[in-house]
Amino acid sequence: MKRTMTQHPRMLRIADHLYLVRAPAKGRFPFCHGFLFCGGGQTLMIDAGLGPELTQEIDRLCRIDILVISHSHPDHILNWHLLEDRTLLLPRQTPDSVTDLDRLGVRYTGTPERGAHWVNAIGRPLGLRPFRKPDGRFDNGHIFALGPARIEAIHAPGHLDDHYCFFDHGSGTLITTDIDFSGFGPWYGNPEGAIKPFQESIRRLMELPYRRVCASHRLPHEGDATQLFEGFLDGFERQKQTVFALLGKEGKTLEEMVAHSPFYKNRFPDRIIQHTFEEQMIAKLLALLEEEGRVIQDHGRFMPAA
Ligand SMILES: [Zn+2]
Repeated sequence: MKRTMTQHPRMLRIADHLYLVRAPAKGRFPFCHGFLFCGGGQTLMIDAGLGPELTQEIDRLCRIDILVISHSHPDHILNWHLLEDRTLLLPRQTPDSVTDLDRLGVRYTGTPERGAHWVNAIGRPLGLRPFRKPDGRFDNGHIFALGPARIEAIHAPGHLDDHYCFFDHGSGTLITTDIDFSGFGPWYGNPEGAIKPFQESIRRLMELPYRRVCASHRLPHEGDATQLFEGFLDGFERQKQTVFALLGKEGKTLEEMVAHSPFYKNRFPDRIIQHTFEEQMIAKLLALLEEEGRVIQDHGRFMPAA
């Protein structure tokens, strides 16, 4: 690692060979923090959400050789194209639709109409570029070996099918990416988002012998993070309770519940995309409530079970 890197105001040293690069806007969407591993004469960065200026600045300081994408959400792939001539590694589970913005829109929203809207409202304004064919794919258990870093890829579906976390055995650092401990709670607003796999992913990660936990949108947490993990898991129950309470005594249709916007509170910048994501989350929570026998459905109307 070059000396200059340690002096960069956006670099947070985590271990001799590992730095967190703090993204603009405290790492909030459309940005995410980057994780830089240096060793064996190479530099590997996890995710490409630093914004264009910072990406280029970091690349000038320490040429990034390998770009690893944790999952294909806009804030994690934002500036990948600025490093397009480097080694690009994607999860095995990332579908080929990432090479086409229109198909990516359909993947995120579920329909061609909403997908086209996503492209115009989010994809293009963010300057997202469709991926080129990657140089390689990684799967669960793959180890990226880079000097003292031994970074294990951990497939952690739920947030998205191709969502990965990473465990650096060299420093005991667990990178939980979008198991992000946010106050909003777990996010599974795309069609492929799924609550139970998400919960299982979190529980598996909690068991690892980590020394610190780093997520993509917050600063590192040193030491035991059980409370963070449990608080995040509680988020599912809180979300479920929110949906259940919204039913009232008479019950509601999914459409009525979405119009109520219990999670985004109608503050999402784009109404169609808000509707899409919220509908996905509410429908998944209702399915779980039905499975638990707490909610029954009658002709599209969801009601509390007697
Ligand atoms: Zn994400």
